[in-house]
Amino acid sequence: MFWHRTEGASSSDDAFSFFNLSSGERKFKKCATWHAPPVLVDAPLSLVKCQRKMAAPTPIHKTEDEWKVILSPEQFRILRQKGTELKGTGEYNKFYEEGIYNCAGCGTPLYKSTTKFDSGCGWPAFYEGFPGAINRSADPDGRRTEITCAACGGHLGHVFRGEGFKVPTDERHCVNSISVKFVPGNATASI
Ligand SMILES: [Zn+2]
Repeated sequence: MFWHRTEGASSSDDAFSFFNLSSGERKFKKCATWHAPPVLVDAPLSLVKCQRKMAAPTPIHKTEDEWKVILSPEQFRILRQKGTELKGTGEYNKFYEEGIYNCAGCGTPLYKSTTKFDSGCGWPAFYEGFPGAINRSADPDGRRTEITCAACGGHLGHVFRGEGFKVPTDERHCVNSISVKFVPGNATASI
């Protein structure tokens, strides 16, 4: 069983809803303290442990020199310098295994495979990310909306609305493969 805590599901400080990633089933759980979002647990819901209160993924601050040590040159170019991988070349462009896509920079869970779809655009496409995991900001050109990892600020790609894809949100997160790291569905993602 693979549960994901959702954001904003309750106005109460001590109640949370959880989605089962494989079945879509939703359950509620009362806790004395908040969970750090996004929380992924591979266990019966009754065993889900509470964590300290946080409104967003733990911010990760590193200097660009520190990132250069951690990332490959191509990862650095895309994640830290807002580059774009060549169309149709990404590892996950036509990849549809079940699991979770984490940030390649800091490991924060960003997308689940069930929200991935084939847009034909040449890059991985998702119709939504984990709640609170992805930030949006307007590009300087005023036309596109950039998406970044909420924890480390790593550049993921851009989000587009109203393109007419048959997806629940009518949004396409156009994500560089190199910005994410896939973890198979039976693995517990970590922050
Ligand atoms: Zn990150």
